[in-house]
Amino acid sequence: MKRADIEPFFATLKAANPTPQTELEYTSVFELLAAVLLSAQATDVGVNKATRRLFPVANTPQAILDLGLAGLESYIKTIGLYRSKARHLMETCRRLVEEHGGEVPRTREALEALPGVGRKTANVVLNVAFGQPTMAVDTHIFRVANRTGLAPGRTPLAVEQALEKRVPPAYAVDSHHWLILHGRYVCQARKPLCFRCSVAAWCDHKPKTTA
Ligand code: SF4
Repeated sequence: MKRADIEPFFATLKAANPTPQTELEYTSVFELLAAVLLSAQATDVGVNKATRRLFPVANTPQAILDLGLAGLESYIKTIGLYRSKARHLMETCRRLVEEHGGEVPRTREALEALPGVGRKTANVVLNVAFGQPTMAVDTHIFRVANRTGLAPGRTPLAVEQALEKRVPPAYAVDSHHWLILHGRYVCQARKPLCFRCSVAAWCDHKPKTTA
């Protein structure tokens, strides 16, 4: 994708959805962190179903600790890999209480030091909760960035770094939402829906699919 095409590409995505949001449901920074931690290799819909039961009962690090491991597992066992996620979330809650006064830290270094929190999770929290222009590259962003020529890269980190260089500052904070949603609903993995794609004019992918 030519550099001059990147601005209209994002302007078009923004015009259709000026204030994009994550599809994970949360009402606090801790709920967001917990939901993202639970969402690895799971759908947002599946995580929301579990957290709609969990968060009314326990939505702070101390409250999750008070549930105990078996108690936490009983709320999230519909989510894939729930046993390891429960262990990670319990340990993360313990560290938040002991080391951060029960608050979610605001730096990448402190976030990535938490159990079960990798670079992508840290990027989501830094972006969605703290408004930083981080690029949380998931499977959808990885595919869209490569397929369109927006920010090609062989690894998620390479795509993240390419996006940081290529996305105009005005779109940086919201860009990962637009790319995820575009990948999830239009530029889908098995067959992109080019025939109803609003940004086809700037996308390098050929041949475009037809209805
Ligand atoms: S034109 Fe096709 S390949 Fe390009 S972004 Fe749209 S759906 Fe994806």
